[in-house]
This record gives sequence, C-alpha cells and structure tokens, in this order.
Amino acid sequence: MEIMKLTLNAKGWVEGLRHCPSPFYNERPANALINLLVIHNISLPPGEFGGHEIEDFFQGKLEHSKHPYFESIKELKVSAHFVIKRSGEIVQFVSVFDRAWHAGKSSFQGKENCNDYSIGIELEGTDDIAFSEQQYQALAKLSHLIMQNFPGITLHRIAGHSDIAPGRKTDPGPCFDWDYYREMMSENFKT
Ligand SMILES: [Zn+2]
Repeated sequence: MEIMKLTLNAKGWVEGLRHCPSPFYNERPANALINLLVIHNISLPPGEFGGHEIEDFFQGKLEHSKHPYFESIKELKVSAHFVIKRSGEIVQFVSVFDRAWHAGKSSFQGKENCNDYSIGIELEGTDDIAFSEQQYQALAKLSHLIMQNFPGITLHRIAGHSDIAPGRKTDPGPCFDWDYYREMMSENFKT
C-alpha cells in the first residue's frame, strides 16, 4: 500500500487518516513540551488481528459480553493517539496536542507521567509475532511527521512502553525490530 504524504492540521489531527475520536483523553499540563514518542502493541482479543475491536475499545464502544477477555478490561479507559493496523492503515484517536491515556504509571529518564509529554502509537500485534512490513513503513512515515512537528522528539527520545514501565509492561515486545525501525528513520531523515 502506497502511503501518501502526511500532514498535521492546526487541531493536531493528521489529514487523510481515518479519525475515530476517543473520549479517553484530557488536556496536557500547561506548557507541556511534547518530547517523547512511545511505541506499544495491542490486539483484541490478544493475538487476533483485523477486526474493529481496538477502535471500539479506544472509543468506549467495545461489546464486553462478546469475549471473556473483553470482560476483564471492562473498567479500563485507555487510548492512544494512533493505531497502526496490520495492513499499515493508520487510525487516529486523539489530537496530538491532547493527552491520550496510553502509558499509565511510567517514567522516562526520571520524568514521571509520560502521558503528559508523549505521543503514543499502538501497533496492532502481540509481543511474540513479527510486525508487518506495512506497519514499519507506516510507523516510519508517521514518526517522521511527528518529529518534524515536535523537534523535542529525537531518535533518542523514542521508547517502548516496556522501557517507561519496566516490570509492568512488556510491549512492543522482543519481536519489534528496533534496529530496522531506527535504520528506516535515519534514512528518512537524509532525504
Ligand atoms: Zn502499551
């Protein structure tokens, strides 16, 4: 799938993507400097791909009675700014200027509450299955756009959820190819 050039509008939404506004967000602290990108994975039910359950979950519309796992996450109110599906499609849920609820209790280089100052991207997947080439392509493109708009996010300020919540979170997991991603990002920056 050819991914078109992405642009961010004045309200913090990326033009051309599917927008599924989530009710699970709030304002960032006043004058928050957005300077961290956090990579996650999610699938609902775990290990199953291609449905609309992630969108439903982040929009507070998941039918919890449909699966035992969904019952276990009934009380959770979470979101991310973006989800990248296995096909490489990028879906946006929260304006990048707002605070999505993706990181939970977390800290990066001693600074707590990463939700305050980060942008969260979820890859549809699990810790133990390789992500698709289309996902890496889309992730690199989206990361590039974010870094152009938020210069505080450098290649050294891209972390996995497991890095900012060690012992509590394991995503994006050992199957996420950080070397490949970083290589794509540095090539992106040459052009
Ligand atoms: Zn996560």
